[in-house]
Amino acid sequence: KNNYPNEPEYVQAVLSFLESIEGLNLDLEQLEKMAVLERLIIPERVISFRVSWLDDQNQVRVNTGYRIQHSSLIGPYKGGLRYHKTVNLSTLKFLAFEQTFKNALTGLLLGGAKGGSDFDPKGKSDAEIMRFSQNFMLELYRHIGENTDVPAGDIGVGRREIGYLYGMYKKIRNESVGVLTGKHPAYGGSLVRTEATGYGLVYFVKEMLKTYLDTDISHKDVIISGSGNVALYAGYKAKELGANVIAMSNSKGHIYDPNGIDLDYIKEHQPKGDFREAYVKAHEGSSYSSDPKELYHIKCDIALPCAIQNELDLNEAKILVDNGCFLVAEGANMPTTSKAKAYLLKKGILFGPGKAANAGGVSVSLLEMSQNKQHYMQTFDDVDEKLESIMKNIFNQAYEQAILINEPNNLVKGANIRAFYRLCEAMLSQGVI
Ligand code: NDP
Repeated sequence: KNNYPNEPEYVQAVLSFLESIEGLNLDLEQLEKMAVLERLIIPERVISFRVSWLDDQNQVRVNTGYRIQHSSLIGPYKGGLRYHKTVNLSTLKFLAFEQTFKNALTGLLLGGAKGGSDFDPKGKSDAEIMRFSQNFMLELYRHIGENTDVPAGDIGVGRREIGYLYGMYKKIRNESVGVLTGKHPAYGGSLVRTEATGYGLVYFVKEMLKTYLDTDISHKDVIISGSGNVALYAGYKAKELGANVIAMSNSKGHIYDPNGIDLDYIKEHQPKGDFREAYVKAHEGSSYSSDPKELYHIKCDIALPCAIQNELDLNEAKILVDNGCFLVAEGANMPTTSKAKAYLLKKGILFGPGKAANAGGVSVSLLEMSQNKQHYMQTFDDVDEKLESIMKNIFNQAYEQAILINEPNNLVKGANIRAFYRLCEAMLSQGVI
């Protein structure tokens, strides 16, 4: 029974998980008696608050802020903050649900959460972003803490926004603790945190290619959706390992560059807004479209959706398959619709689900939390090496579970089931709370 008809993304994420555990040999009576599924699905706490702030014309603006503390079963709540005009309860509940399973799968001691606001940072001045972030923290600080809930970045929240949020938290609480991750290394941020999700995604793909096809990513044609944090660093790592990154996108459309995307150009111009037209002028042989979905019409070997939920639908999935794409791995959270995912799996496409493939960011966040507690800092290479071994382990967790259910290619089920077992064990050991 669907009690949440107005929360389609949340329902989509929950149904995808429930499909994965269908047919498992479970003690249903015990499961029902202990209300395990309800307790896994319904967030422990949903916080919503008003954020009032002054724009540059001294006009008072009002947005809604949220924090969904989904599960503290295996550690403090942990998950990013998103600033985007599409943010609502449904989006954040699905993200917090996914985060709980992702964090369980990493094997690290972290619960799951997500938060943010419908504040649209596009076109806002630096001062407006600072004032909004400070006012957002004026309420959020009551609900977070280094051992309670440790937010990080997500869409629209990068190092700059984390800095403003952290500065305000410190001012209110008068303490310097690792209450947010994704900080600048100058005041406690971990090296590699900026790169971690994108790098981690490519490390995960590397394991998929080695395990299933005994090959590597070099000379493969790769398309990547988005051009933000995750997309960019997935691009850099794929290129470093010898792949040809031939197309990327933003919310306005995509660019195609058969000579290989100039990632440094995107890194420099993306924060200033839409770069497509200028890119094409500056790069001979490249072209652009005004529909981000057209990215998936480009012939490629590997597709890495790294932008936003539900961007890759059935039509795009069919085109990818027809064009010979053989691997899709999700850098974003739930970028593939249910129909598209089912189609790709049916067609035997290797599929890396986001809750496994994009767990690099949260994994390095935990390293940042422990560095802050111990007041020390690791080198870039140390963290990068740890990240690669964590991603290898996450892949193995999902893969071993997929083998156990006799569906070795199904990392979606493998990841969901492995995380589910860990969460169940923690829940049943902690009594009815
Ligand atoms: P950013 O804000 O840095 O970048 C988002 C990018 O996506 C921008 O380039 C944006 O373009 C683009 N975009 C937005 N909507 C669309 C669309 N409909 N089609 C194509 N591109 C679009 O966010 P992140 O890179 O941090 O996050 C991207 C995804 O990765 C999200 O799903 C997030 O939840 C997930 N993720 C992020 C982690 C992290 O560490 N940052 C960790 C794990 C997952 P434009 O500039 O035009 O808006």
